[in-house]
Amino acid sequence: MTSFDSDFTMTIGGKAVAGAATFPVLNPATEQPFAQAPDASREQLDQAVAAARAAFPAWAATPYAERQKLVAGIAGVLAQNVDGLHRLLTREQGKPHGDAQGDVMGGAYWCQAASTLELPVSVVEDTAERRGETRHVPLGVVGAIAPWNFPVLLAFFKVAPALLAGNTLVLKPSPFTPLTTLKIGELLRGHLPDGVLNVVTGGDSLGPWMTSHPGIDKISFTGSTQTGRKVMASAAETLKRVTLELGGNDAAIVLPDVDVAAVAEQLFWAAFRNTGQICIATKRMYVHKDIYEPLKAALVAYAKSVKMGDGAEQGTQLGPIQNKQQYARVLELIADAKAKGYKFLIGGETSEAPGYFVPISIIDNPPEDSRIVQEEQFGPVLPLLKFDNLEEAISRANASDYGLGASVWSADEDAALAVGQRLQAGTIWINETQHISPLGAFGGHKQSGLGSEGALEGLLEYTNAQTVYVRKKAVAPAAG
Ligand code: NAD
Repeated sequence: MTSFDSDFTMTIGGKAVAGAATFPVLNPATEQPFAQAPDASREQLDQAVAAARAAFPAWAATPYAERQKLVAGIAGVLAQNVDGLHRLLTREQGKPHGDAQGDVMGGAYWCQAASTLELPVSVVEDTAERRGETRHVPLGVVGAIAPWNFPVLLAFFKVAPALLAGNTLVLKPSPFTPLTTLKIGELLRGHLPDGVLNVVTGGDSLGPWMTSHPGIDKISFTGSTQTGRKVMASAAETLKRVTLELGGNDAAIVLPDVDVAAVAEQLFWAAFRNTGQICIATKRMYVHKDIYEPLKAALVAYAKSVKMGDGAEQGTQLGPIQNKQQYARVLELIADAKAKGYKFLIGGETSEAPGYFVPISIIDNPPEDSRIVQEEQFGPVLPLLKFDNLEEAISRANASDYGLGASVWSADEDAALAVGQRLQAGTIWINETQHISPLGAFGGHKQSGLGSEGALEGLLEYTNAQTVYVRKKAVAPAAG
């Protein structure tokens, strides 16, 4: 019987491994430590990489259909344990129980849906002389590095395709949210062959050790753009393949023909779900001047009805900021907005009470060059921006180094689509946001990332293309 409250061990070569040391894990709603996580030494990372390398040949040789079955089967393991896993996730991450359940079951869904993908083989030549085929072979050992906002779902964005393609893994969750991932490693110990999925946790050195490790062939990283640059530079030393899913500053453009009462709630959640800590949250909302005032009023009225608190309490809709560093960053952006004299329609106040709580905050039309518009806030602080002319809104939305997602809202779907097609982002939504599918490519344009997750595009990122030419025996040897 798995305990979800204690005994947090790494998984290396299918075995439970205690850390060389431990570090405390805090509940962000109370700031109280409630568990100790293993702090891997460099030698322990070496052991995890060695276990993954040892398991690679047999896993790569396992028929694809068998790997599909085992990856799809992870969904069942997660579903059977969702109760314990989601409660633990709420404690370490802060999100309400319902959202934590969604994070775990999202991982399950990803495994199940991704396992329906097939690796293509294309025939490049088929003549009397030879047959040539391009197929896709696994890379070897994948180092997967995950962030703290959706620890389970975002880990399985990597684990599912990496395993399907025939790679073995070393998975590292964020040190702010290590526990649920450690338990998942434990639960999968008998499900996958030993060494196929290793889970390690540790402090700030562990990520750089992975990106520079000569035994790791690819890094799949989700996190901030700033860290993504370091990952890419470090991976360059050994020419590791990289997939980088990085930060965003998604714009929503709201056209004047929307039904304000109908869209206000959806727009609210586009910005504030998970307390704004979503890479594809709406982080700048451009609203046409004709509806600016009524939409502003509707957003503020709805915000007042939303309950923020400890995610473990009944009725909580928004939890705290996940960790102290991010809390300090969001408070800094609020302080900057206040110092510049921007008007808060709601929120903006801070409190000394325990927990990294930042109230829902909406800022009334700050200047386009303000920090809250230009930077990724990753918290519950939304700049509401007024526009007059559509061309101007499109160019303001595109004037960013980020290009993760963007949305357009209108009663006229075709008009919205025409605007959407001019936006520079990896995912465009019309009259919705944040929907992603395991069968749709997901990735950032510009400095929001490199490569894709999901779909065949994402699966192929865990492979090398290999072209094989077979000279046919029937052909007579060349003369001379
Ligand atoms: P982060 O960059 O601080 O950390 C992400 C992970 O990288 C953690 O596991 C961390 O321990 C590790 N890490 C830190 N420094 C490292 C280094 N030098 N080398 C290797 N690994 C290192 O990001 P975060 O604060 O955990 O997450 C928030 C950020 O992630 C936001 O910018 C958000 O937009 C982005 N994000 C992007 C996506 C996406 O799919 N594009 C999804 C979720 C979050």
